[in-house]
Amino acid sequence: MKRFRVFLACLICRTARAVLRLLGRGGTAMPGKIALKVYPGLLAELGRGVETVVITGTNGKTTTSGMLRHMLDTAGQAYLSNRSGANLTSGITAEFVTNATIFGRPSRPLAIIESDEGNFPAVCAALQPKVILVTNLFRDQLDRYGEVTHTRDYLARGIATASDAVLCLNADCSLTASLGRGVPNRVVYYGVDGVSSDREPGVSDAPHCISCGERYAYRRHTFAHLGDWYCPRCGLSRPDPDVAAQAVEPTAGGSSVRLRTPDGLREITVALPALYNVYNALAAIAAARSMGWDPDECCDSLADFGAMFGRMESLTVGDTSVQIVLVKNPAGCDRALEYLATRGDDVLPIFCLNDNLNDGTDVSWIWDADYETLFARRHYERIGVFGLRAGDMRLRLKYAGADDGTIAVYDTLDDLADAVRNAGKPVCVLPNYTSMLAVRDKLSALAGGGKFWEAN
Ligand SMILES: [Zn+2]
Repeated sequence: MKRFRVFLACLICRTARAVLRLLGRGGTAMPGKIALKVYPGLLAELGRGVETVVITGTNGKTTTSGMLRHMLDTAGQAYLSNRSGANLTSGITAEFVTNATIFGRPSRPLAIIESDEGNFPAVCAALQPKVILVTNLFRDQLDRYGEVTHTRDYLARGIATASDAVLCLNADCSLTASLGRGVPNRVVYYGVDGVSSDREPGVSDAPHCISCGERYAYRRHTFAHLGDWYCPRCGLSRPDPDVAAQAVEPTAGGSSVRLRTPDGLREITVALPALYNVYNALAAIAAARSMGWDPDECCDSLADFGAMFGRMESLTVGDTSVQIVLVKNPAGCDRALEYLATRGDDVLPIFCLNDNLNDGTDVSWIWDADYETLFARRHYERIGVFGLRAGDMRLRLKYAGADDGTIAVYDTLDDLADAVRNAGKPVCVLPNYTSMLAVRDKLSALAGGGKFWEAN
């Protein structure tokens, strides 16, 4: 009876997915939802025998998952993975159905699964992951999950269902690190040792000791509430990281990192800019080690992960610093949006969409990219759209939660250039291919030509 229901659930899920694709409505949660209705135990059934890493946390999930996938791609390993837009139980279930036989037998040995915090307990209980990775806990999903300590409790509940999992936790985030206390799991901490910012954090998302309520003190800050924290009253303090960045040297478009692991010291290159991507790299390395993957191969693969991110270029137009991040498919777009969401400063984002032959004339992929997460996390005073399909882009952003009143459509390149010049804040342009060529020519001419540098 159970086997029949598994079969039926898989069949219905696949059929629904195929039909939706034919109708041009891929990427919805519906097939997975129906499948779980038919057989609620489906995800547990399909996950059996698959070695799984589950990644959760507020920021960096997508990038860290991407790094882990890139490690497996480099090693030529088969795996399955959900995209960030499908990180609810239904989406994850659909992904497992796609990578199993019609009788529910898994066809891939490994899985990289990104989970929404709210669904994390159910996902962990079903998948019994080998490794659970928590990137950090910030307050930016307040509307969806309430207080940040409330989110922490969700994660603790998930971890409690998977006592065999190795926990990889960010030691520098006091809330995340607290998940490793008093649990039977093996815990691997990662953190940044060699960096200290002069800037005191403004508003901390985790100001008070989780154990006694005293205000945390810091020996070092990296950014936000992350750093070498301790409680002056009860003595609770940042755990000593097993995987640490001893020194971080910014390079053009990335960082050079002296990495310390139990295997010793080594230099690695992280081909994505900014310190939060060093955290993401440490997280990925901690998880890869815990999975038993080749540490040399995994570390080396991070040096060219940036290439997957898409090309990133920077220039200055008048007083405005401009970044251009090429996006041409949902996966690359998700990474660019993640980057945008985690930028600490206020920016003017400009989304450009053409449908020339070189772009692929079908622009419906924008509906598969995860703009929702960006607008759940960030509010922009102004948003620009440009390109032959600016109308589609505007509609997409509106559906993703952007306030339509803030969206400006630039009809010409001159309009766009004016907006950039008068932005009064940094500008981040996310164009697809031919719109990138046009915008880039225009802006680089204004910048005096040839002022671009390529980050990747
Ligand atoms: Zn305390």
